[in-house]
Amino acid sequence: MLKIAVVGSGPSGFYTAEALLKSSKAEVDMLERLPVPYGLVRYGVAPDHPKLKLPATTYARTAALSGFRFVGGVTVGKDVSVEELKDAYHAVVFCCGAETDRELGIPGENLPGSHAATAFVGWYNGHPDFLQHSFDLTQEQVAIIGQGNVAADVCRILAKPVDDLRQTDIAEHALQALAESRVREIHIIGRRGPAQAKFTDKELRELGEIPQAGVSLDPADLVLDPASAKEIEDPRGQTAAWNMALLREFASRPLAQARRRIHFRFLESPVALYGGQNLGGAVLEKNRLEGPPFGQCALGTGVTARLDCGLLFRSVGYKGLEMPGLPFDERRGIIPNREGRVIGDGLPLTGMYCAGWIKRGPSGIIGTNRADAVETANHLLADMHTNASLPSKAGASALLPMLASRGLRCTSFEDWLKIDAAEIARGAEAGKPREKFVRIKDMLDIVSRQAAA
Ligand SMILES: Cc1cc2nc3c(=O)[nH]c(=O)nc-3n(C[C@H](O)[C@H](O)[C@H](O)COP(=O)(O)OP(=O)(O)OC[C@H]3O[C@@H](n4cnc5c(N)ncnc54)[C@H](O)[C@@H]3O)c2cc1C
Repeated sequence: MLKIAVVGSGPSGFYTAEALLKSSKAEVDMLERLPVPYGLVRYGVAPDHPKLKLPATTYARTAALSGFRFVGGVTVGKDVSVEELKDAYHAVVFCCGAETDRELGIPGENLPGSHAATAFVGWYNGHPDFLQHSFDLTQEQVAIIGQGNVAADVCRILAKPVDDLRQTDIAEHALQALAESRVREIHIIGRRGPAQAKFTDKELRELGEIPQAGVSLDPADLVLDPASAKEIEDPRGQTAAWNMALLREFASRPLAQARRRIHFRFLESPVALYGGQNLGGAVLEKNRLEGPPFGQCALGTGVTARLDCGLLFRSVGYKGLEMPGLPFDERRGIIPNREGRVIGDGLPLTGMYCAGWIKRGPSGIIGTNRADAVETANHLLADMHTNASLPSKAGASALLPMLASRGLRCTSFEDWLKIDAAEIARGAEAGKPREKFVRIKDMLDIVSRQAAA
């Protein structure tokens, strides 16, 4: 039986584990830095989109398959090295996602009041890493840089009446802060035109359906250049065509006496953020598009305008973190690979694989990770099959004592089920599907308490 370590318990980790276990040729130990599983399904997907968290039910079924083990609370590259995993397992599959955000690279980017969308998303979803963050929701003017679905999530959470969030699994600290919010105008800014906005039409439509919130945009922005017009006529531009229809409809709406307003702004890039102790606003440069259909770039025109705002979120993409002991493509923020085989010095590294966002970058929906993980798992199984003289490997019987000797308190999947049940019980009291524990200590205390009972 092959002994495989999977690093990361998000969608790609679980789909990889499922494909390997169903081959009946492998046992899988899944290592996760947090005590709890599911990656961005738990800590990324917006609280008001509960159906999109349903894949977790499938992952729990994978966890029940024979040969699966969850080892939570272990950061690979810190608590255990890649080399040590290589020694203990026949192969290691890195499924560690894209955990950091891309920067704008402009002056003033780090002024207080300018935040990565990652931090806000982690904060409202109760991720322990972001508990200490605070966001000044007394500001009336907010800018969001970027026009993808993460930007749409951030906008929706800011724009929605807080009562619409009370019955979700949003973290209690975020609910309390949002209840006091004075946010009024939300500017959602894209460097290219409306035909290039990355929202999916469903997410865009939702922004126009928020109770007590209005949408606005300059109708002149909807006049497309010839290349953009070609894009939306092309079958590849179907989502953009739907988005354009929605935006035209938004532009035709009277801007009622809305409590909050969402302003869609196109062909603008921040070139500097200004302020003193705190963010005062952004200097936006007007852009024009140049290039062929589906290859248009935004070029600055030199015309700038100031947008006063005391709160700004940068949502221009995620990228992976370098793992000590592994090659890394700094520009793309991924582990260099060929169809999931990790590549070092131009050649596949024996026993090293990757899947999900760390393999292909932050694109696609949760389901996209399934085919991606199956591709990696199939290559791994084929490589192991051709290597007839595989040595036996110790797997967990080497790993677990090593982790214990380092004083780590690891969680099992059964421990997660206890945390899960406790969160659901806490949530029921508040009429929520769950109330997450936001401190690692509180998660571990639940496990200890139940073990003692
Ligand atoms: C804000 C946001 C909202 C989204 N909403 C949706 C949505 O509504 N619908 C949809 O279909 N898709 C959505 N997505 C996309 C979806 O979440 C991703 O496609 C998917 O989570 C990628 O899976 P992954 O396994 O590669 O990474 P992740 O889900 O990020 O999982 C990576 C896991 O690896 C762990 N890890 C990282 N480093 C280490 C380490 N060194 N050692 C051990 N463990 C480690 C992390 O803690 C994490 O659990 C959203 C993404 C974001 C960012």
